[in-house]
Amino acid sequence: FPIIRAQNSPDFVPDAKFYKVEAILRPWRIQQVSSALLKMGIRGVTVSDVRGFGAQGGLTERQAGSEFSEDTFVAKVKMEIVVSKDQVEGVIAKIIEEARTGEIGDGKIFLTPISDVIRVRTGERGEKAERMMGGHSDMSSALSTS
Ligand code: ATP
Ligand code: GLN
Repeated sequence: FPIIRAQNSPDFVPDAKFYKVEAILRPWRIQQVSSALLKMGIRGVTVSDVRGFGAQGGLTERQAGSEFSEDTFVAKVKMEIVVSKDQVEGVIAKIIEEARTGEIGDGKIFLTPISDVIRVRTGERGEKAERMMGGHSDMSSALSTS
């Protein structure tokens, strides 16, 4: 499985049940990305408006004739999605598919192991807390039992 590598490897990723996929993306692609994720059963997503600086530098980008950013930082949206390990690669592939233009400034994705998930309403932890009603796991198990 691609995310787990040997402990002595320089890109060792600690094994965990859950991972956070953190994607910094072009604001005008967020709607497209989130509706594609929703279609695959990803229901828990957090987004924030952020401003960043990367290889794109402070270069403004044009969208429908208007420019983003008043200074050297470019407006981006950060999407944070906590999913179970088996869903990580699917989510990453979907984000790339929907967010990529091929131009500088498409963004970046960071992957972090998550040690626990706690649902505030119920106090559930781990797998129970991470599972969403009608979410990706439910969709896949419905497919395999029907
Ligand atoms: P409940 O059944 O009590 O509503 P829930 O698991 O559906 O619990 P919420 O309380 O609705 O969770 O979630 C609150 C906020 O937490 C969401 O609006 C979203 O921003 C964030 N969130 C929830 N789950 C995830 C997740 N898996 N990844 C990223 N953000 C999440
Ligand atoms: N892994 C959860 C499920 O399968 C979905 C997580 C999420 O929507 N972020 O139900």
